[in-house]
Amino acid sequence: MDLIYKSTRNNEETATASQAILKGLAGQGGLFVPERIPKLDKSLKDLSGMTYQELAYEVMKLYLTDFTEEELKYCINSAYDSKFDTKEIAELKKEDDAWYLELFHGATIAFKDMALSILPYLLTTSAKKNQIKNEIVILTATSGDTGKAALAGFADVPGTRIIVFYPKNGVSPIQEKQMVTQRGDNTYVIGIHGNFDDAQTGVKRMFSDPGLAGEMAAAGYQFSSANSINIGRLVPQIVYYVYSYARLLARGEISEGEIINIVVPTGNFGNILAAYYAKCMGLPVGKLICASNENKVLFDFFATGSYDRNREFILTSSPSMDILISSNLERLIYQTAGRDAEKNLAFMNNLTETGTYTVTREMKEQMADFYGNYADEKETAEAIRAMYEKTGYIMDTHTAVASAVYKKYIAETKDETKTVIASTASPYKFTRSVMNAIDPAYDSQGDFELVDELCRLSGVPVPAAIEDIRSAPVLHDTVCGKEEMCAEVKKILGI
Ligand SMILES: *Cc1c(COP(=O)(O)O)cnc(C)c1O
Repeated sequence: MDLIYKSTRNNEETATASQAILKGLAGQGGLFVPERIPKLDKSLKDLSGMTYQELAYEVMKLYLTDFTEEELKYCINSAYDSKFDTKEIAELKKEDDAWYLELFHGATIAFKDMALSILPYLLTTSAKKNQIKNEIVILTATSGDTGKAALAGFADVPGTRIIVFYPKNGVSPIQEKQMVTQRGDNTYVIGIHGNFDDAQTGVKRMFSDPGLAGEMAAAGYQFSSANSINIGRLVPQIVYYVYSYARLLARGEISEGEIINIVVPTGNFGNILAAYYAKCMGLPVGKLICASNENKVLFDFFATGSYDRNREFILTSSPSMDILISSNLERLIYQTAGRDAEKNLAFMNNLTETGTYTVTREMKEQMADFYGNYADEKETAEAIRAMYEKTGYIMDTHTAVASAVYKKYIAETKDETKTVIASTASPYKFTRSVMNAIDPAYDSQGDFELVDELCRLSGVPVPAAIEDIRSAPVLHDTVCGKEEMCAEVKKILGI
């Protein structure tokens, strides 16, 4: 029996896994969720003997049930190969008082590669399975890292085009350089005058515009999404939480069944939701520690049960978490509302109309596994400097938010449970902020001087992703207003 996916906003809308991947977003702005979260069907001990690819198959087969073994293994083996600079794919490093799960060993040195290196294969396989003849247009809003990882994943993939919108003044210089130098005949990168939420709202509007869908179909195109709302992103992200547990078990750091905590630096709530799904699958996880930067809408939500996006949008040194509408939270709202799309829709309509909603006490009680906190800019910089001085390990700004929040969690709870911290980007991606945290005097140096200095301090070789952009020419220079996003898309597609 295939696992069926349902929309969070309409109890009647269902899809198979491959259909859900193709569509990205369900109707009326809903998200696809599996009708139930499957249980791991191998023991933790068995999983501890597996490679990343083998374990990925064991997890993903439970969700993507309409993929054949051959199809799924083809997708996994095509994605997790030498594009990653380590055979482990994700590396686990014990630093100070926690294990850092380094998810940045892929092509664009941020954790988005973990899912976006496989999504193009899942998507093109899904298209084949569903006899889709249209060209698939990937439309993506990015706060920095998704954009480049999606561009790298889809560049020159036959049957696809990718259009990425990013906030012109809301990403790091290296993030921007990575995107605007992207090669590939099917890649388009556009800056917008606005913030990430504007970009995401504009993309969502295009997805749910029936008139536009009609014009696209007539011209032989259809949209899909590479954003973290696509179930084809969420499922591959579950894998590395199971893998981190399996590696700790294999190394004898934990005993089978021992509970671990997980800390995730959070923006759109996709990565931490994957950790939650891993827990629901039977992985022994205690607390899911949700770490925010100064855009602490999730901290307030877990503290009060009220989600309130009506606040100033703050640009921080962890731009991939500068988000006020955490889209994937909707999947948790839906689940805790008893998997009732009508109830969820009422919350989401409130969010659209007033910018707020408040969950019921029963719903909040079901979220007791989550602990939220945040780190301000000073605390984040301090976490980087303190870790460097104590151990020599250099974290990026996003990971540092998680590290600082973890310290607060321990101080508050005295919980000594062994803990995995998701390390979501290489420090080389946010070199200036990282180096300034270590010593503000670095600010006078150029971006690539800082790269070389970071290499000297950390002893970690400069990743290929950074070497590549040192001299790469700018190939994309379009900038538009947030109201002009649809017009830009039509121009690209000639419709
Ligand atoms: C995207 C991103 C995050 C946030 O992940 P979500 O799944 O959106 O919560 C954190 N850190 C980095 C480096 C990212 O690129």
